[in-house]
Amino acid sequence: TVGAIGYGSYEIYSKRHPLEQQPFDPKKRTVIVLGSGWGAVSFLKSINTDDYNVMVVSPRNYFLFTPLLPSCTVGTIELRSIMEPIRFITRHKSRNVKFYESECTDIDPESKTISISDVSDIKGAVSNTTIPYDYLVVAVGAENQTFGMAGVREYACFLKEIWDAQNIRTRLMDCVESAGFASQAPEEVDRLLHMVVVGGGPTGVEYAAELHDFLKDDLETWYPELADKFRITLVEALPSVLPMFSSQLIQYTEKTFKQNKIEVLTKTMVKEVAEKEIKVMDANKNMISIPYGLLVWATGNCPRALTRKLMARIKNAQTSPRGLLVDDYMRVSGAPDMYAIGDCTFSKYAPTAQVATQQGLYLASVFESLARIEEGKSKKITPFEYSHQGSLAYIGSDKAIADLPFLNGNISVGGVATYVFWRSVYISNMFSFRNRFLVVGDWMKSKVFGRDVSR
Ligand code: FAD
Ligand code: MG
Ligand code: MG
Ligand code: MG
Ligand code: MG
Repeated sequence: TVGAIGYGSYEIYSKRHPLEQQPFDPKKRTVIVLGSGWGAVSFLKSINTDDYNVMVVSPRNYFLFTPLLPSCTVGTIELRSIMEPIRFITRHKSRNVKFYESECTDIDPESKTISISDVSDIKGAVSNTTIPYDYLVVAVGAENQTFGMAGVREYACFLKEIWDAQNIRTRLMDCVESAGFASQAPEEVDRLLHMVVVGGGPTGVEYAAELHDFLKDDLETWYPELADKFRITLVEALPSVLPMFSSQLIQYTEKTFKQNKIEVLTKTMVKEVAEKEIKVMDANKNMISIPYGLLVWATGNCPRALTRKLMARIKNAQTSPRGLLVDDYMRVSGAPDMYAIGDCTFSKYAPTAQVATQQGLYLASVFESLARIEEGKSKKITPFEYSHQGSLAYIGSDKAIADLPFLNGNISVGGVATYVFWRSVYISNMFSFRNRFLVVGDWMKSKVFGRDVSR
């Protein structure tokens, strides 16, 4: 799912450069933004730096276009095509935006300071420090949900960050080459070529879809002796995949998966994760062991350690274990001058880029209003209102599904035409012309030459 908010970003490349930007102004308030994901970047794109000094703290110095991450796991798109350096994004601002590549390890709402720590391998003499803020925008996202199950972090691959996609791609090719190893036993070949996905949300479904395309379009060509041994299984605890979509599109997805020989096990709960197999309980409460070569874990979000630490500090106001409670103005309950947006919050909306983007844009407008009010101008601050632009997912073999709000209802469409639409929506939602150019180039490249099967 992705929001249809367009960003004309050509100006980023033509105009400013840090040297041409104004320096920090000690008379202005300082806003610190935690994170460089959807929420943070959408805020940064629209905050007016004439009014504020802006600082960004994030352990990664780039923005990641997550909707196309599943395509990177099989090489339809290259990793760097969906990354954008944060400095490219902030260079068009009138005032220089400071960026610190580090992790925020603690937030003290009382002294209004944050502690930051350099997370890189190479550190200078100073690698931990504390900085004060006037306003804080928490946009740190969330962590992978493992339900505390042993073995998940050890043996499964997540699909959230750029290194996850890299890891999956390497691991997949490793399984394939090991299956082709001289005199490998047949049951070991079957295991190595069994790709298991846990979680039937959009990430799990899109990953299974991309994997299917890769098997069909490329692996069967280059590994014909293994072709009929590849298997994909998707495990979901709920009665269906993609619960946020209309029942018609759920059925369409399940039918397409069946045609594509992706086995879908619904009402199936993972109970144990070991190095070469998972144990699951099926709908009839039978325990079944499923051997795998590659296990991808995509079961949703839980709050990060930093978020939990902050909630504990203001626990009288923060009563939900699922994320930061904010009011309709994105203010963190129990902490003055602190705002939170995106996946780190617990809100009535789904944790999507679409929501985080709209919240980031909204918050920048709140800051604009606060600055005008300070100047003595009257300005009304209205509460945040989410506008759902629809849900989209790629389901494999050039087909996509879309639930789109239309008039007062909803239209559900699926198929190849929807896939063309899916591509155009994603392209128009990319933050920069550079990324659009790279992604379209990758699509053409994999069409012409096939995907690269080297690891
Ligand atoms: P994120 O984008 O995750 O950003 C969090 C940022 O905080 C990161 O830069 C991180 O490095 C940083 N950070 C982490 N810890 C700290 C710390 N301690 N201090 C400072 N910074 C920190 N949504 C859609 O709407 N449509 C889609 O098609 C879609 N597809 C997706 C596909 C995949 C594979 C995934 C994983 C997600 C997808 N999503 C999609 C969901 C979407 O990516 C998230 O909802 C969105 O990223 C949330 O934005 P955010 O800013 O809250 O968090
Ligand atoms: Mg963010
Ligand atoms: Mg992101
Ligand atoms: Mg090997
Ligand atoms: Mg969080």
